[in-house]
Amino acid sequence: MDRSGLLKGKERSIGLFGGTFDPIHLGHLRCAKEVQEAFYLSHVIFILAATPPHKVDRPIIATKDRWNMVKLAIADNPSFALSDVEIKREGKSYSIETISYYHRNLKKGEGLFFILGADAFCEIETWKDYTQLFTLCDFIVISRPNFDPLQAPVLTSERFTKEGAGNRFLHPSGHSVSLLSVTPFGISSTEIRRIVREGRSLTYLVPQAVEAYILSAGLYRE
Ligand code: ATP
Ligand code: MG
Repeated sequence: MDRSGLLKGKERSIGLFGGTFDPIHLGHLRCAKEVQEAFYLSHVIFILAATPPHKVDRPIIATKDRWNMVKLAIADNPSFALSDVEIKREGKSYSIETISYYHRNLKKGEGLFFILGADAFCEIETWKDYTQLFTLCDFIVISRPNFDPLQAPVLTSERFTKEGAGNRFLHPSGHSVSLLSVTPFGISSTEIRRIVREGRSLTYLVPQAVEAYILSAGLYRE
């Protein structure tokens, strides 16, 4: 890919990667790394959703534990950071408010991307003020097994147009959505929690320090 085209005249770009991270796993980390390389992002900022509006069907473990595990997982990578903006904010964690916050605080010459998986993109029309999301920054949708981002209803409802032969779509606002194929990881936090409940090993699914944290804090046992 042409770097100058991707940076669109920006000197540096940051990617925001939101999630519940209950817990963070190697799928999250490897995907973030591949997005960073493909889009020349200087930093990927993990945004921990304190109170995710969509996860109402099950209890989520304490924010503090999820925070600690992301911290451990990214400790050895100076270009990965963890943000507490959604923790400090009262009420539900809406991405529109987080993106607006980062958009307001952008420095001159800085570009902003929001990173999400194909599963999340396919249901983005359920997000608060979703029509405004695409007016604030560019989006990167990462592939995820069993989800086809080309089927996302929002591509039609928000009148995106396909740009050339590539995997880039343009919103009427001028911002883009890029689809990126990453190494497929058929794992999810749901699966990780199930493995712990069943007393099986998490080795090679989460970073060692995260596995140790889960075991010593006794998380996800029931
Ligand atoms: P859960 O099963 O609890 O929903 P999850 O594995 O989907 O957990 P989230 O915290 O919900 O993790 O996801 C955060 C972001 O990472 C979302 O945009 C999601 O689409 C993306 N993501 C998570 N796991 C993967 C994966 N294996 N491949 C690609 N994207 C992923
Ligand atoms: Mg999920």
